[in-house]
Amino acid sequence: MMQDWQKILSSSIVSINELPTHLKSQDNDLLSVEQTYPMRINPYFLSLIHHLDDPIGKQVIPNSLEIKDLQTDNDPLDETNQSPTPGLIHRYPDRVVFLVSGECAVYCRFCMRKRLVGKTALSDHAFEKGIHYIQTHSHIRDVILSGGDPLLLSDNKLVKILSAIKHINHVEMIRIHTRTPSALPQRITRELITILKSFHPLFINIHFNHPNEITDLSAAACIALADAGIPLGSQTVLLKGVNDDPQVMTHLMCQLVKLRIKPYYIHIVDPVSGVSHFLTSLETGIHIINKLRGHISGLCVPHMMLDLPGGGGKVPIGLAYIDKQQGGWQIKNYQGKNYTYQDIYND
Ligand SMILES: *Cc1c(COP(=O)(O)O)cnc(C)c1O
Ligand code: SF4
Repeated sequence: MMQDWQKILSSSIVSINELPTHLKSQDNDLLSVEQTYPMRINPYFLSLIHHLDDPIGKQVIPNSLEIKDLQTDNDPLDETNQSPTPGLIHRYPDRVVFLVSGECAVYCRFCMRKRLVGKTALSDHAFEKGIHYIQTHSHIRDVILSGGDPLLLSDNKLVKILSAIKHINHVEMIRIHTRTPSALPQRITRELITILKSFHPLFINIHFNHPNEITDLSAAACIALADAGIPLGSQTVLLKGVNDDPQVMTHLMCQLVKLRIKPYYIHIVDPVSGVSHFLTSLETGIHIINKLRGHISGLCVPHMMLDLPGGGGKVPIGLAYIDKQQGGWQIKNYQGKNYTYQDIYND
């Protein structure tokens, strides 16, 4: 039987022709955009869009700039080369990303995995190979389920995946990266929560980009997860014209903490082909994180992360507070005032 969230999903808009008139643009190239990169806006997320160009509309309504992008690399982070088995990315020694789903509640136009989402699914064979790889690499202690969105899988499929991972002794924790609480909160059912809480320690990182994504429904979904004892973090993508503003970002981070979500990372957009119109400068990223740190509770401040091209991994940016000089350490505080700190011991 279809669950409610599956019914909602099945009436998603998947072509620009189906958009309500007030959200249609005059752009003639849009049909070729949706043929290149799948479109999906489910009815819940659609209800949050008021204008074509508002912060929610921009994230999911196709734009012809996607196919006019000069950037032509589909995989600048070299994920494909860091894939020992299909769907598994092993970049850092102790953790892997497992792309267990190719589907999402909506297809974000800025997605770093634009090359995959809505186009691929993990085959049973690839799943078995991935599990075997994790089993035979005993230094892997953290498995991150991503995709696509793992919570777009059926409850049965999720149980199968989570059980297989849980059975591997050296895996100490599981993380799920999902946008469903913000983009399809109906997915967070009682049954799902019962399943998830039987796989502790299980962490969920929720994708939120704008305060308009926090509604009664999305808040209730997050509260239900937190009440089940699931530690929640957030991931936000720094998007030009959507949230590249210190005030918007401050508001979002503080709202998340009120829902017991610890802001984890803000990501600089990866220069993937088709997303350049969302890309901000590194300067903007540094400016925004410096407007957060110190100005609001430390609990509300995530790290601003740059994923290095070529698979070098993520590094935090905006930490240029400190400089060693003759007279000691020169350190700036959050207001930009200079202080000197002297080491008392040399070790
Ligand atoms: C981001 C990422 C991780 C997780 O990094 P953390 O800093 O531990 O959250 C792991 N593997 C890959 C390939 C990643 O891109
Ligand atoms: S929900 Fe995540 S994986 Fe899915 S399209 Fe959006 S950014 Fe990409």
